[in-house]
Amino acid sequence: MGMDRSEALFDRAKRVIPGGVNSPVRAFRAVGGKPIFIKEGHRSRIEDADGNQYIDFVASWGPLIAGHAPAEVVAAVSAAASQGTSFGASTELEIALAEKICAHVPSVEMVRLTSSGTEATMSALRLARGITGRDGVIKMEGCYHGHADHLLVKGGSGLATFGEPDSAGVPADFAAHTLTAPFNDIDNVARIFETHNGGIAAVIVEPIAGNMGVIPPAPGYLDGLRDLCTKHGALLIFDEVITGFRVGLGGAQAQYRVTPDLTCFGKIIGGGLPVGAFGGRRDLMAGLAPLGPVYQAGTLSGNPLAVSAGLAVLSILERDGAYDQLEKLGAKLGTGLKKAAQNAGVPATLNRVGSMMTLFFGPGPIGNFADAAACDTDRFARFYRAMLSKGIYLAPSAFEATFVSLAHTEGEIEQAVDAAQQALEETR
Ligand SMILES: *Cc1c(COP(=O)(O)O)cnc(C)c1O
Repeated sequence: MGMDRSEALFDRAKRVIPGGVNSPVRAFRAVGGKPIFIKEGHRSRIEDADGNQYIDFVASWGPLIAGHAPAEVVAAVSAAASQGTSFGASTELEIALAEKICAHVPSVEMVRLTSSGTEATMSALRLARGITGRDGVIKMEGCYHGHADHLLVKGGSGLATFGEPDSAGVPADFAAHTLTAPFNDIDNVARIFETHNGGIAAVIVEPIAGNMGVIPPAPGYLDGLRDLCTKHGALLIFDEVITGFRVGLGGAQAQYRVTPDLTCFGKIIGGGLPVGAFGGRRDLMAGLAPLGPVYQAGTLSGNPLAVSAGLAVLSILERDGAYDQLEKLGAKLGTGLKKAAQNAGVPATLNRVGSMMTLFFGPGPIGNFADAAACDTDRFARFYRAMLSKGIYLAPSAFEATFVSLAHTEGEIEQAVDAAQQALEETR
C-alpha cells in the first residue's frame, strides 16, 4: 500500500498549516503514522492521494449518513450554486430547512442556522445565560461541544487524544463558569446545583455521548437532568450535533422521550457542507436579536449551498425504512465486531445506538469518560493501523464513533468485520 503521495502532501501541508491539518485529530498522532490525504469519495468508499481505496466508517465525523456524494445532494448543491453561492440576505431555502427541523423535532419551535456546530452550542449557551441572567454552565466530562472558550473544559476526543484536558488560551475566569460532572452521574449534577444555588444558567449534554466514544445515557439519566433543570430554573440543552437525524428523525430526545429547552444541531443537517443550528421553544428563541437582547450573527449563516445539501439529505432520511436500514447495518457491524474481539480473545466492549458505535478495548461496562480513558489506547493504535492497511478507514482516535451510512452494503460490513477479526488477531 503506497503512501508516498500522502506523505509528500503532509510535508507540504506542514509548512503552511500548523501540524499540517485544519483540525487536530486529523494528524493521526493518537494512532501513530501519518495521515492519508483523501482525493475523492463515492458512496461508502474513499480513495486517497496514492490511489488506495477504503471503506469509510468516519463519514466526515458523522455528517455523511447517506454516504459520499449522493446524486441528490450533488444535484441540489449544483443547482443552488448556479444561482449564486451567497447573498448574506434571506432566501426561501433556509426557511425550508428550518421548517423541516421544527417539523421533526417538536421541542424546536424556532431555529437559527449557523455555519458550524461550535457556533450553535456557543450561541445556545449565550442565549441561556441571557435569558436566565446567570453565568454558570454544567457540562459532562468527555462531552465535546465545539471549541468555544468556556466549553473547552474536559472536552472529550480531540483534547483527550492529546492528553490535554483543557486548552491553553482559555482565561481561567471563563473556565470558572463551567462546572463539570461525570457523564451518567445524576447525583453529582444535583450536588453542583445545590452548591451553586441559583447560579446555573444551563446544563449542556450530548444525550448520547459521541466524543469519548459512544456512550448511551443510563436509564433515567436524561430524565434526571430534565427534573434538576426544571427544579432549579436552568435550561436543559441537548447537543444533538451528532445524534440529530442520526438516531432517528426526532433525534435522541425522541428516542429517550426527554424534552430539552434548547437543542443544537450540525453535521447531518448540512449534508457535508458547513452548517449548524440551535433551536427551542418560541419564548426562549425570542431572546435572540433582532427580537431580543442576545446577539448572534453570521455572514454565511443559512448559506444556500449548505442548506440545499442539508435539505437533500433530510429528504433521503425521510424515506420509508431509512432508519430501519441504518439499524440493521449498525447491528450487523456491532455484533460482528463484538464477536471478532471475542474470537481473538481481546477484552472489548461494544457500545452502540443505531448506526453509531464504538468498540472499546476494555472489559466494560463503559459508562463515562473515566471508563473510556482506562481502555487500551496502544491496542487501539495497533488495531487502527492494521485496519487501515486492510482498507478500512476508522476515526484515528480511540475516543470516537464509528458511523454506518445508508451507502454501506451488507457485503462491506462483512468485509469490515473480517478485517477486524484479522487485525485483532495480528495485533494481539
Ligand atoms: C462536532 C461536534 C460539535 C462541533 O461542531 P463543529 O461543526 O465541528 O463546530 C459540537 N458538538 C458535538 C456533540 C459534536 O460532535
